[in-house]
Amino acid sequence: MSKSSKKELLKLYKDHKVQLLISQFVSEELDTLNPVYDPKQGFRYPIIDKILSDSSSTEKFLQQMFDGGVLERKLYDKIVYCPSCNSANLSIHYTCPHCKSFDVKKSALIEHIKCGYIDTEDHFQEEDKLVCPRCKKELTSPGVDYHKAGVWCTCNQCGKSFDIPVPAHFCRECHENFTFDEAIYKDIYSYTLTPDAAKEAKLGCVLTVPIIEFLETRGFKVESPGFLNGKSGTRHMFDLTAVSAGKEKSTTVIDFATSDDVVSEQSVIAMFAKIFDATPDRACLVAIPKMNENGRKLASLYKIDLVEAKDQSTAIESLKSCVNE
Ligand SMILES: [Zn+2]
Ligand SMILES: [Zn+2]
Ligand SMILES: [Zn+2]
Repeated sequence: MSKSSKKELLKLYKDHKVQLLISQFVSEELDTLNPVYDPKQGFRYPIIDKILSDSSSTEKFLQQMFDGGVLERKLYDKIVYCPSCNSANLSIHYTCPHCKSFDVKKSALIEHIKCGYIDTEDHFQEEDKLVCPRCKKELTSPGVDYHKAGVWCTCNQCGKSFDIPVPAHFCRECHENFTFDEAIYKDIYSYTLTPDAAKEAKLGCVLTVPIIEFLETRGFKVESPGFLNGKSGTRHMFDLTAVSAGKEKSTTVIDFATSDDVVSEQSVIAMFAKIFDATPDRACLVAIPKMNENGRKLASLYKIDLVEAKDQSTAIESLKSCVNE
């Protein structure tokens, strides 16, 4: 992955809606995001509608997630929409190629194997038997006496016959008739997390979602990412800022540092530089899976609450008790 796209991806992860989406996948409530068929609107993604609380931007959001490398997609189905009213509530009409009427009767063609006579099924029908109109023999065993030789259509309007009708659409909403030429024909996808997004997500990018929810139920006003102005005039960004609701407003800042094995003291030093200037009431650093020895010493020296957790759920539990103290 190129540097710029990696940067874009990290920017997307900071979006609360993206975190909600990823957390759905990571918590294994969701393996593949499949569209759900709705007879009037066509395909919908109710999970995304709920995250966005507005179904009109779902398509755009999924496109952004795909372009941004968060989701990958697979062709799931194709769908036809009415060009006049955009409805998916359509029926298919097989129409007469001569007069365009959809009042077309479809019959099976039968061939009497012995004499070679071919005609539509109704010409063979005599009460509940099949009898050859040419040689008058009764046809009893399919595949031996006779076989189906295709279909034959007759137009009830112009009386002409043909073997291949022309498919057309009829909109049940606005009653428009239209052909494939005029139809809106769209790809419908199912989605999964990209391997990159899945890895990032497991490393803790989506930690903030349950933490935000927890802090909000405790009456904190939470921003993610959150910003504090420092004495120097610099604006500092934290993964999360939480301001308590009581009379004496106290501000907690939280940063997350993740690594494949051990988090280095660099993240402690970087956080200290910010809190030295921004002076929050409390600073908390979450290290996943653990902090190195130097980092531990520095955190205690700098009065940074260090939470070490081997995975997401332990981190959430530790952070909860840390905030509660
Ligand atoms: Zn329509
Ligand atoms: Zn016709
Ligand atoms: Zn015959």
